Amino acid sequence: MRYNVAQLLKDETGQFRQYALHEDIRALDPGIVPLSALDGRIQMIRTADGILVTGTLRVSVELTCSRCAELFSTALQFKLEEEFRPTIDIVTGAALPLTVDDEPATQIDEHHIIDLTEVVRQDLLLAIPPSPVCRSKCAGLCPTCGKNWNEGRCDCTHDELDPRLQVLKQLLDE
Ligand SMILES: [Zn+2]
Ligand SMILES: [Zn+2]
Repeated sequence: MRYNVAQLLKDETGQFRQYALHEDIRALDPGIVPLSALDGRIQMIRTADGILVTGTLRVSVELTCSRCAELFSTALQFKLEEEFRPTIDIVTGAALPLTVDDEPATQIDEHHIIDLTEVVRQDLLLAIPPSPVCRSKCAGLCPTCGKNWNEGRCDCTHDELDPRLQVLKQLLDE
């Protein structure tokens, strides 16, 4: 996900380029299991300070259901919006002073390369739901025998009521 932006840096503010992005991201992060390539379109706009990268990206990933622990696939879509700043003046070749906002992930290197890898990795991790579920009505696992309740009930269900609920149940049963 590396783009040479030397020409765009020489352009006037407001000039832009568009790219189709299609990347194999299997090596991006050990916590991400992609089932497809990362796809989308990105736009790079020359700003007064650098280059603003925007875009919408899509990828299918494998997740583990937080209720039933089964693997399932889901399509994620996320937006990219990050301003990259040059570390070298494109005209003079002089090193530019860094500001407090400059993170390595959003620096344009001395060869005028924008590398989207780290910002894509961070944005994709944020796009993954913290407690993914395989379906909205996933019934989860029996806490006692571990049976996947999506595949049917188990026999131990009724014995495992909270003792306070057990009292209530007895009252209701009477
Ligand atoms: Zn589930
Ligand atoms: Zn059970």
